[in-house]
Amino acid sequence: MLNEIKLGWIALVNNEVNILTIIIPCFNEEEVIFETAKEITSILTQLIKNQKISKKSRILFVDDGSRDNTWSCIESLNDSNKYVSGIKFSRNFGHQNALIAGLTMVEQSTSIAITIDADLQDDINIIPKMVDEYLEGADVVYGVRNNRKTDTWFKKYSAETFYKLMEHFGVKMVYNHADYRLMSKRAIHALLKYRERNLFLRGIVPLVGYPSAKVYYMRKERYAGKSKYPLKKMLNFAFDGISSFSLAPIRIIMYLGFASIILSIALMVYTLIQRFLGNTTTGWPSLMISIWFLGGVQLTSLSIIGEYIGKVFTEVKQRPRYQIEKTVNSKTQIDMTTK
Ligand code: UDP
Ligand code: MG
Repeated sequence: MLNEIKLGWIALVNNEVNILTIIIPCFNEEEVIFETAKEITSILTQLIKNQKISKKSRILFVDDGSRDNTWSCIESLNDSNKYVSGIKFSRNFGHQNALIAGLTMVEQSTSIAITIDADLQDDINIIPKMVDEYLEGADVVYGVRNNRKTDTWFKKYSAETFYKLMEHFGVKMVYNHADYRLMSKRAIHALLKYRERNLFLRGIVPLVGYPSAKVYYMRKERYAGKSKYPLKKMLNFAFDGISSFSLAPIRIIMYLGFASIILSIALMVYTLIQRFLGNTTTGWPSLMISIWFLGGVQLTSLSIIGEYIGKVFTEVKQRPRYQIEKTVNSKTQIDMTTK
């Protein structure tokens, strides 16, 4: 007992309890990765010096099947920087899966994880504030953008419409928060219990429900390179988000169905009245309109139902969310046991 207390005390003095892992997904990020590692290392060492976090804290890069030299950059960073570890996927599995892989990897060995993009768009200077919020009791700390000046007009308004739509559909989400967040060990543990394949982390994290806090920052321009979320990927991601979290689109079909029944009854009555008044209907326009209208309603309905069936299809297959090809471990040694 005495020994346990003593060990606990030593751990506290060395700050072993607050091991922080910063998880950075990378897809073709050779242009930014060295700068990102440099800047994050300086924040990390400062936090270690101030005894806020353990000396065993580290940076974990997840190479999401990059086709450029990202992985060799990670290997060379691992040689030169004692904090850097890396995982390499066998192919591109997507940003959300890269985040899940990083969290799964460190679940056992870390006390806190922060996920952040590789391109330095999110202000890393708020990391100490995030850690402070954690030390004060928050299990999840959301990094929230308080401006979108650097985003294009289209990205800004499409994102706003998306958040409004999600809110309308009853999905709880933090406005203007992407995947820049801190999570405590128990929050990571809870998050990893959500086993879905159609991953939309910013919708799942609030479901975990532990105490949370927000830290605001200004979003900057990408340090270098191009966005890895082209329009098609972005729209897919948004629709995935909606259909993974809400059955509202199915309900909309039901209302559409009701509306078209009422409309057709009204039309029937109108045609009958015209008939009694002696106005013979020419038929062609009403026929065409109803064919097109009902055709449209049916196609939309089918596609929405199809979307949900597609979701069930991908979930029941239970395919792995990612495949790791290689790893490199930091001097602080991440327990790289995979599940
Ligand atoms: N990313 C990834 N896999 C992908 C696409 C993106 O790991 O298939 C990473 C990317 O390297 C970056 C983060 O996800 O670290 C966010 O991507 P990006 O900055 O291009 O998105 P944007 O900020 O333009 O929305
Ligand atoms: Mg970016």
